[in-house]
Amino acid sequence: MSQTFSGYAVIHKGPSPVPPNLTDAERAQFRWETARSRLSGLPDGGLNIAHEALDRHLGTPIANKVALRWMGSRGERRDLRYDELSELSARFSAVLDGLGVQPGERIFLLLPRLPELYIAVLGALRHRNVVCTLFSAFGPEPILQRMSIGQGAVLITTPMLYRKKIEGIRAQLPHLRQVLVVGRGADLTPEELPSGTLDLGPLLRDTAPSGVIPSTSPDDPALLHFTSGTTGKPKGALHVHGAVLHHRQSAAYALDLHPDDVYWCTADPGWVTGTSYGIVAPLTHGVTLIVYEGDFDASSWYKVLREEAVTVWYTAPTAVRMMMKAGAELAREHALPKLRFIASVGEPLNPEGVIWGQQAFGLPIHDNWWQTETGGIMIANTAAMDIKPGSMGRPLPGIEAAVIKRGPSGIEVAPVGEEGEIAIRAGWPSQFREYIGEPERTAKCFSGGWYLSGDLGRVDEDGYFWFVGRSDDVIKTAGHLIGPFEVESVLMEHPAVAEAAVIGKPDPVAMEVIKAFVSLKAGYEASESLRRELLLLTRSRLGPAVAPREIDVLPSLPKTRSGKILRRLLKARELGLPEGDLSTLEGESR
Ligand code: ATP
Ligand code: MG
Repeated sequence: MSQTFSGYAVIHKGPSPVPPNLTDAERAQFRWETARSRLSGLPDGGLNIAHEALDRHLGTPIANKVALRWMGSRGERRDLRYDELSELSARFSAVLDGLGVQPGERIFLLLPRLPELYIAVLGALRHRNVVCTLFSAFGPEPILQRMSIGQGAVLITTPMLYRKKIEGIRAQLPHLRQVLVVGRGADLTPEELPSGTLDLGPLLRDTAPSGVIPSTSPDDPALLHFTSGTTGKPKGALHVHGAVLHHRQSAAYALDLHPDDVYWCTADPGWVTGTSYGIVAPLTHGVTLIVYEGDFDASSWYKVLREEAVTVWYTAPTAVRMMMKAGAELAREHALPKLRFIASVGEPLNPEGVIWGQQAFGLPIHDNWWQTETGGIMIANTAAMDIKPGSMGRPLPGIEAAVIKRGPSGIEVAPVGEEGEIAIRAGWPSQFREYIGEPERTAKCFSGGWYLSGDLGRVDEDGYFWFVGRSDDVIKTAGHLIGPFEVESVLMEHPAVAEAAVIGKPDPVAMEVIKAFVSLKAGYEASESLRRELLLLTRSRLGPAVAPREIDVLPSLPKTRSGKILRRLLKARELGLPEGDLSTLEGESR
């Protein structure tokens, strides 16, 4: 494939307000042992995520800092200092003990972004349970599916969510012994408390905190995360306490976290990003974490960034696209002098998105790549690096990533510039241990000492990785292999286009032809002339073989609840095929 995005100039960084954590010298001398020595640890080589996130700060000046600044959707505000959050998590751990919950049992959370979510995650980790956070907008079906796979023993939710989503399926959850419900700031009245549940508020208040964190092995399971379900049925990836080593180190390098940062991760803790980088990693650095309960709305987000003086912001392409849709003027109306670093993950970030960051905030958006399975960031554009818009950046220190081919003699690393599958040398600290209940699927991800990601990409002569597409989404047309990302990025260059997705449509001559779907920004209307303009643009930029043959304009594109465009659904609808697992489809509540 031709050199992608060659039309975009490399972005060289100006001086940074704080010295970047990852310099060339740091990269050269990186050792996992050094990173390990930056953790606090438990006796006998033990590691516990809650200890690294909270208790290690006790007795230091960080103990009195705000760990979590919560902004409720009803205008409430609550600040929790590190020492308070530690104590509350220890109370939660003692509550679990009082209920007879055993270490190793799985605790599920179905909660909006309330302070209790953070208390319960950290308290359950402290108690050495396995925590699984579910996105609170899931309907009963996806909850049942995930809780059955995970055999959850305890669920923490709200009375409203319990009545709407759990009551009707509880009989089908034989492993579920206890349900704790969370009110909003006050004890629940007997009428408010659903039968068969306990009010967490008074329990937390009346239970004395548990003592020091018991010995925990780095190999003890800690977190269960379900994948986004972009390609099919979600998989439950199990992670261990030892992952905290990579969580902390990668946040220093890829998010450039410094102790004085005010940090906002806009991902919900129901997804791996919202836990690894929305709870664990920032707390290990002692920064102040912003938790905004409200949903996305460009104006409110700008307000949070400005009023809370956010310095580091970790977001996703879907949010960037929505902000682009709202216009750079709105961004410029909100001066953000404190904001110094923006990163994005979850989907390919089109070069247009990177450039837009420059225009709107005076800062490029730093794309990084990882997966639920990798537990943490693997490939990233870091603060000190030049940015090539459209590239995911370079592997972080300690991570060996490559583009590989599966040849007759096994796995071979592909030559520079050639496409292949993105693979990571197995054995990094936050590597998932298994897809629970699916040993064969787990085994299939590993070969010849590599973890095979299922994503296609290529590496350039400077070691930068370029995303081509998921292997399931790649299009074979007239002898070419086309990654959707390249075509979509060109469509995104047109001022009318807000979102773009391309699929391959079977064709008797070319094998597949490319069909594009776009949604438009406010003020633009679908018309024959717009469609022609888009066809011409892609033809002139990509050549007729790679340009879409058909373009449909839709009001919006179908996405997962984590905001990823569902190409497989567009394809199934186009071809009249079964729609497959839609448990994570945005807007569905099944
Ligand atoms: P499933 O595995 O259930 O189909 P999923 O792969 O979308 O869902 P996640 O683990 O949440 O679930 O997402 C990881 C995937 O997201 C990556 O494999 C990749 O396809 C995509 N992705 C994440 N970050 C980037 C990025 N920076 N550029 C391109 N793609 C990305
Ligand atoms: Mg995946």
